[in-house]
Amino acid sequence: MQTHLAPRLRDTAEGREAESILRSCVHCGFCTATCPTYQLTGDELDGPRGRIYLIKQWLEQPQPDAGGAKATRLHLDRCLTCRSCETTCPSGVQYSRLLEIGRQQLAQDVPRRWHARLGRRVLAGWLVHRRLFSMTLAAARWLRPLVPAHLRARLPADGVAGDWPAARHSRRVLVLQGCVQDSATPGTNAAAARVLDHVGISAIAVARAGCCGAVALHLDDADGARQAARNNIDAWWPGVESGVEAIVASASGCGLMLKEYDQLLADDPLYAYKAQRVSALVRDLAEVLDGVDLGGLARDTHVPVAVHVPCTLQHGQQLPDLLPRLLERAGYRLTQTPDSHLCCGSAGTYSLMQADFSARLLTRKLDALQSGQPGRIVTANVGCQLHLASQAQLPVSHWIELFDPDGTGVRPGSG
Ligand code: SF4
Ligand code: SF4
Repeated sequence: MQTHLAPRLRDTAEGREAESILRSCVHCGFCTATCPTYQLTGDELDGPRGRIYLIKQWLEQPQPDAGGAKATRLHLDRCLTCRSCETTCPSGVQYSRLLEIGRQQLAQDVPRRWHARLGRRVLAGWLVHRRLFSMTLAAARWLRPLVPAHLRARLPADGVAGDWPAARHSRRVLVLQGCVQDSATPGTNAAAARVLDHVGISAIAVARAGCCGAVALHLDDADGARQAARNNIDAWWPGVESGVEAIVASASGCGLMLKEYDQLLADDPLYAYKAQRVSALVRDLAEVLDGVDLGGLARDTHVPVAVHVPCTLQHGQQLPDLLPRLLERAGYRLTQTPDSHLCCGSAGTYSLMQADFSARLLTRKLDALQSGQPGRIVTANVGCQLHLASQAQLPVSHWIELFDPDGTGVRPGSG
């Protein structure tokens, strides 16, 4: 694709990166067919190729056009960042990075209105503040009958984390506790720690580590995301220096973010090297347990299971078969899910910001997951888990709970 970037951007690092990505696109349109939002609207501008054109147009215009910003923003905001298009693209176009640059440039050139900016800031602050989020959840559970029905469906049940084993093995990993997951599904990481302990690996949670930064990035706050990354690197650095085997994320969305700290902080002279070291150590929980014999821990293997592999695992981390393979090896019978490459509509804060598209994608995804008549649904990301559980007719949980030696984490229907 030929490009003529505006002089104001031509000599910037982001401008050069965007130009190189734009030039790698041969506008074949293969990606359009596998884009969930294009499938909903049939509008080229709600597909990756259309969005690439919109970003190109924006970056090429000599002066920002406030009038055109509204339409461009509408279609860019509707993108789930699911990266299905990246999996499909034969030319290796780094669409998600281009989208990030496009969104940030747009926000800089024509800022959102003050109330939209304020709303995003409040949402980001609330989600990543563990205590505040946890207190809100507790209050909402207590006042459940008064909570509006559409939000009530999303309320996770009050979970019990259970014991976290003391560090007793020479093999050690650090575990990201995250922000939302820590309050919404506290059983997940505790179950992961128990399973890891059972197979001879001690899991260590560093309290100072917090949100991975994905929430800020979803809400156009790249500086906030970089700050979250620096905070986590500082928290984990002593562990990294002491030779931990891995930094483990049980939420694939967080894992993807951590794996990309090296790109996020590439231009930071103080953190670039540390970010590379940290990113190289990051593993999804299923990667750590891949190849480990979990058959002895597997419960209820007679119940057929539908697996939702989150976009962040299959498209982002490019590990589409890892989880189904692990579960089959442990003895589970997996049901077929048509169009398993499509997003469930959760996508970080998307389900809150684009409620209509998100709800339609959820209905399609649940129809697909339930079509093989499974007895339960498992997934690997807290956002997908809560989103699916809000409307599913079956129990939805994180897959690790199937193997939890204590079993305290399995809460049917709650996710
Ligand atoms: S498939 Fe790749 S090269 Fe083809 S239009 Fe989509 S992004 Fe461009
Ligand atoms: S990231 Fe997903 S929603 Fe966005 S353009 Fe690509 S396929 Fe479509």
